[in-house]
Amino acid sequence: MTTTPPLLIATTNAGKIREIRHLLAHWPNLRTLTDLPPIQEPEETGATFADNAALKARYYAGYSDLVTVAEDSGLAIDALGGAPGVHSARYPGATYPDKFRNLYAALEPHPRPWTARYVCAVALVVPGSEVPRFACQATVEGEIAPEPHGTQGFGYDPIFYYPAYGRTFGEVEDAEKLAVAHRGRAFRILDEWLMSTRGESLR
Ligand code: IMP
Repeated sequence: MTTTPPLLIATTNAGKIREIRHLLAHWPNLRTLTDLPPIQEPEETGATFADNAALKARYYAGYSDLVTVAEDSGLAIDALGGAPGVHSARYPGATYPDKFRNLYAALEPHPRPWTARYVCAVALVVPGSEVPRFACQATVEGEIAPEPHGTQGFGYDPIFYYPAYGRTFGEVEDAEKLAVAHRGRAFRILDEWLMSTRGESLR
């Protein structure tokens, strides 16, 4: 029988960790960056979510010597040419309510609906190898709500309106969000691949 090696999930973001632990619940040995001594984050210099996911996975696999999964995600708003995109975490504003105010100011001249999507790119890197052994990307389509609603989720969730639910992701339970959202979709694809390799492709 093949033993499954530990997987490092390369993030310290509490919202992401909560979601990913739930999504990979049956993976036997999951670690996150909060289990390791702190290290300087790499600069996210990639032009795409996929580039940044690969860059982070490579960096933390080198640091930890563990099979490493990194994800890069963000919000892309069509009226703003895809912004904040790969810069979502660094969009101007010290807090999310500040970021929301700045986004609404930028959106105001544009007619509604303000269509948008969340994107999540995932990369898995095996220590000693530069090229991701596995990569995938998933999205969820929605709109920017006219004003923020709800306190669930994290980040931009209070302004991300999901038409099929008739609510923002700030107003839905974790499980409802995970069932349809970008990170849930991407990690279910990763999970299927992990299960199909049964550890074989992780050496
Ligand atoms: P990263 O750490 O560079 O991948 O930053 C991703 C950023 O995108 C987060 O800090 C949030 O601002 C935003 N983001 C990504 N996924 C979500 C989500 O599911 N809900 C809300 N905001 C998200």
